[in-house]
Amino acid sequence: MCGFVGMVGDRDVAPVLVVGLQAIQHRGQDAAGLGTKDGTRFHCVKDLGLIGQAIPPDAVPRMAGRAGIAHVRYPTAGSVSTAEDAQPFVTRRPGILLAHNGNVTNLPELADQLREQGTTVLSQCDAESILLVLAHELAALRPAGHTCDDLVSAVRRVFARVRGAYSVVAVLDVDGKESLVAFRDPHGIRPGVYGTDGAGQWMAASESVALDVTGFRKVDDLPPGEIVVMRSGEEPLRIPVAPASPRPCIFERIYFARPDSIMEDGRVNRMRWILGRAVARRWAAKGLEADVVVAVPDTSRPAAMAIAEELGIKNREGFIKNRYTGRTFIMPDAASRTAALRLKLNPIREIFEGRRVILVDDSIVRGTTMRRIVEMLRELHPAAIHLISFAPAVRHPCYYGIDMPSHDELVAAAWPKDEVEERLAAQLGVDSLTYLSLPALRKVAGDAICDACFSGEYVVPVSAEERAAILRDRRA
Ligand code: SF4
Repeated sequence: MCGFVGMVGDRDVAPVLVVGLQAIQHRGQDAAGLGTKDGTRFHCVKDLGLIGQAIPPDAVPRMAGRAGIAHVRYPTAGSVSTAEDAQPFVTRRPGILLAHNGNVTNLPELADQLREQGTTVLSQCDAESILLVLAHELAALRPAGHTCDDLVSAVRRVFARVRGAYSVVAVLDVDGKESLVAFRDPHGIRPGVYGTDGAGQWMAASESVALDVTGFRKVDDLPPGEIVVMRSGEEPLRIPVAPASPRPCIFERIYFARPDSIMEDGRVNRMRWILGRAVARRWAAKGLEADVVVAVPDTSRPAAMAIAEELGIKNREGFIKNRYTGRTFIMPDAASRTAALRLKLNPIREIFEGRRVILVDDSIVRGTTMRRIVEMLRELHPAAIHLISFAPAVRHPCYYGIDMPSHDELVAAAWPKDEVEERLAAQLGVDSLTYLSLPALRKVAGDAICDACFSGEYVVPVSAEERAAILRDRRA
């Protein structure tokens, strides 16, 4: 998972890009970068760490350029991150600045193809491969002076050669004009939006919150299978390249995205609320009783409120969160996730002591975080802990950009489907566990989604060889 913000305008874009990027820091905490195009020159600064560490504030005013890209990275390709793996990436021939969000599933195949074409991939980041393929396809048409038709042909070739899930932003000259180009794979698995400030400047971003905080207004989602070409002072060009078959990631709306984001024309907060109501009905049908509903902060709050409302039970804040530690799920190794959790959540004794508590979480992936939370809560002697996940059981790996690549790491994959609630409740030490059902999720979100981590129905086929390579990479 990663986040990008791209902009083209009539003044230096770097300061605005950094503000927009801060709104999506939750999408990646491993590395960050900023690149601008200043006439024929590119400026780029990137490093490991949070935005403030990777992009020194004093570097920003020196980065001239009326088009640029900022990026936060959470690695899904490349197990040991280095500053070279941070995005954006630049090519010289032709001059392109590029970043993406997603996961390319056929990286070894692309590396072989590129090697045969005389190009070596230097980093472990899949964005570099997308950039090199795009650059190669453009250069094959002509060395410079690329037109919009060239771009369409080159992106068509990218769609044919690059498999997986990717939302891409790039800055390059097209038709002799400085252009911000965005394209999204035909399934639109990873999110992306574009918008305007109403005065001729354009922005593309992973989430609409980046537009909100910079005074831009969302125009639309980046259309799957299309290119959007944005230029200062002009209306954007939307060019279909491949037949679209939208299947956006539902886990974005359950877990990753900020609740104030608008994604695929729906408010993330509202989706979490409706899923909360749906799972509350399933919980009530079990004939259980409780005194209080408590969210595991922050993602679960809207669902917890909805569950409380549906069941007619009080909703209370039960945890104080230390906001100065990282998000545990997206820290890259198990040891740092465990240490971070101890620092991060402190329960409020009187909320739990002697009470029958419904604890609400977005999902249970590895189960390690929840086990530790339950251990912490048992010390406060609640009368009962009923755990609700407002997502279905995560039983299958994600190959499209979320860090859960192997069955062994998925705690709910250990048992047959109809035994998961009971067996996992016992393992986690809770009195009951209730998941949202997959049919209930599809009833709310529709069938045109990616829900492969719940259903095992993969939108983009991933061969056994590709799965093994992804797994090897994560375990290296
Ligand atoms: S498999 Fe799950 S996490 Fe991955 S893209 Fe699909 S819905 Fe999202």
